[in-house]
Amino acid sequence: MLFPWEWLVLSILLSNFKYCMGVVEPVLIVHGGAGTVSEDRIPGKLRGVTLAAKVGYQVLARNGTVVEAVEQAVRIMEADRFFNAGYGAALNIEGDVELDASIMDGATKATGSLSGLRDLLHPISLARDVMEHSGHNFLIGDGLVSFALDRGFRFLEPPGQLVTQHSKDALEEWKASDQSYRSGEGGTVGAVAIDANGNIAAATSTGGVTGKRVGRVGDTPIIGSGTYADNGLGGVSLTGDGDIIMKVCLAYDVLRTAQLTDRALQPVADELLDAMSAALGGTAGLVALDRAGDVAVAHNSLHMSWAYQRGDTVAYGASKEDFNLMPATDTPFDPLPGGM
Ligand code: ASP
Repeated sequence: MLFPWEWLVLSILLSNFKYCMGVVEPVLIVHGGAGTVSEDRIPGKLRGVTLAAKVGYQVLARNGTVVEAVEQAVRIMEADRFFNAGYGAALNIEGDVELDASIMDGATKATGSLSGLRDLLHPISLARDVMEHSGHNFLIGDGLVSFALDRGFRFLEPPGQLVTQHSKDALEEWKASDQSYRSGEGGTVGAVAIDANGNIAAATSTGGVTGKRVGRVGDTPIIGSGTYADNGLGGVSLTGDGDIIMKVCLAYDVLRTAQLTDRALQPVADELLDAMSAALGGTAGLVALDRAGDVAVAHNSLHMSWAYQRGDTVAYGASKEDFNLMPATDTPFDPLPGGM
């Protein structure tokens, strides 16, 4: 029986050995947002991230692309009320859901981003369509809506169906508080994948921050801030105080700094998160993979739910000290009362 840290060291040694031998083991890693989460909502978050990691990994296991894998992983969490993305997303000051998302293909550097999207359950799929079919990198406003309709996306009718009681309560709490634009419970979702050929993709999707101004754009759709993927560098998805993350282009900085200093992603990510907070305030978190498939999970928020699958094993946790392993066939979190 191995301790978690022994397992971690062994898996890193093994993955380095495999990279040197020209073999990369596929990995799919997700996060479910950085913030402060009440105890009663942690099992729901862990259920969502472990399911998303397994679904995304299945795409890789069946020889699907890394872009497909991260899209499918993110879709699972967009449909889950426990996350701030799609259904259950944070509300703006007028009580509406406005969604941001981005996706990047590390093999081609193709990117797709959108912002201010309403009444669509799966923004990540539209971001993928922007990447693959719009001829541009980033669409917003009326042009985004007409592109979506042209591409066959259907908006929810009547509007407003993405709003949950939990997000309404969070907006009321925010109005009664100091009204800072902090990520609160968090709940932004993201995924990064690597396949056996070393292809990497990353994706991130969010409702932003509770109480935000109408039209506010966060870090999530900004390539280099909320998301980045490059087969030569690795892939990363960010979450946390986006108005601050954007100022330091954290996604690209983590990958590029690790390359330039020839260090592993984990210590670089820890350092850069703390440097951001020391210089500008705020907290954030990320999941990342390097080009050998080594994993980094970093956050300086109290909580961040995360999970990854490599081989037949799923690793997961919700806070810094939390590192758990289970066989991918296990489903340890009870179905939730009240369903979706
Ligand atoms: N980074 C997101 C934003 O600022 C929020 C979050 O991750 O909690 O829009």
